[in-house]
Amino acid sequence: MALTPEIEQVLSLIDQAIERKYLRVEHIRRLAGSEEKYRMIIREVDRVKAQLLYARSDNAAATLTVREWFTILDHFSWKCAYCGEKPFQVMSHVIIRSEGGTTAENCVPACHSCISKPNKKVLLPVIKTPLPDQPEQP
Ligand SMILES: [Zn+2]
Repeated sequence: MALTPEIEQVLSLIDQAIERKYLRVEHIRRLAGSEEKYRMIIREVDRVKAQLLYARSDNAAATLTVREWFTILDHFSWKCAYCGEKPFQVMSHVIIRSEGGTTAENCVPACHSCISKPNKKVLLPVIKTPLPDQPEQP
């Protein structure tokens, strides 16, 4: 999915809703505009939320936003950050989650075969954070 300004706006609104603990599935469905985008977005929202919870339970940093995660996926062309070939399947923590936390600097997409390899290297530099602010919706 291409990261258009419209999609970025939707992702920012989702992040705001998560922060206020006011995220409703119907809200995302309405913002997404199409069933296909909704399915794509909700899958990643659930992934990010789960990883934030795990990081918090590890007492590690838990700052990754949905918009940051989509920016990271776009940065790696939705492919594995280690082999650069296979489509992304799972979120990988560059430094183990209990130490590095679930943050934009520490999370990359990976394929199932790379995630279990020792001494794996990320092919591209991670994105710079924080991301510039999104304009408020009129
Ligand atoms: Zn891979």
